[in-house]
Amino acid sequence: MRKPIIAANWKMYKTQKEAVDFLESLAASSLKEDREVWIAPPFTAISALSSTEKKAKISLKIGAQTISEHTEGAFTGEISARMAVEAGAQFVIIGHSERRQIFHETNAQIRKKTEKALEQSLIPMLCVGETEGERSLGQTNSVLKKQLEEALHGFSSPSIQSLVIAYEPVWAIGTGKVATPELANEAHHYVRKVLADLFGLEVAKEIRILYGGSVKPEFIKDLMDERDIDGALVGGASLNPDSFLKIINY
Ligand code: PEP
Repeated sequence: MRKPIIAANWKMYKTQKEAVDFLESLAASSLKEDREVWIAPPFTAISALSSTEKKAKISLKIGAQTISEHTEGAFTGEISARMAVEAGAQFVIIGHSERRQIFHETNAQIRKKTEKALEQSLIPMLCVGETEGERSLGQTNSVLKKQLEEALHGFSSPSIQSLVIAYEPVWAIGTGKVATPELANEAHHYVRKVLADLFGLEVAKEIRILYGGSVKPEFIKDLMDERDIDGALVGGASLNPDSFLKIINY
């Protein structure tokens, strides 16, 4: 059984205080228990959110939005996997399309980041997805296959057991254009097939694949009704406690 995950990607929003206020407000609400809630705040709020989570007795996972591909060294501005874990991160988003497009992250770097995360027992949440142009050229599956194969090349099945995938079509991120449940499920089904080819069917069946791209409270139920959709990675609608709560409790 794949337990659903509703995950928030806060990007470069919320100071430490704003993040703590948000979590306190979420902790005061009742959350359905048959799903997991994960939040990736900016690095500066990870530690404060971890302490708030313990005090407020709300059960969730706090994560980072990226990590360095290096273990340590002269890399000004970077944060290592070990530093993220020490701050309280339990998972890390890797290869988000904004990192790929704005910061020119390659599949090779994404693979290294995945390796660094696994070395520190940080759960990697690997993001994959096609652009609008790639979809219109009929290249969706080949793009997804390449991203998955290059990012996951050489890992053994036991080592990637904690892996989570986020399928995020680039044309749906922050645009208000959510994928239809059928289209998203088709992509998820294909992602699972590639994972089965890489790691075997039994492992692929256990890996949770989240949909991301303009998820709002009004769309979540239909997405979650699809067989291969195991949760959502939510950007904009996760910044407001009311809309995030509605998505969590779909
Ligand atoms: C994201 O940034 O991962 C995302 C899915 O954003 P939004 O929900 O705003 O489209």
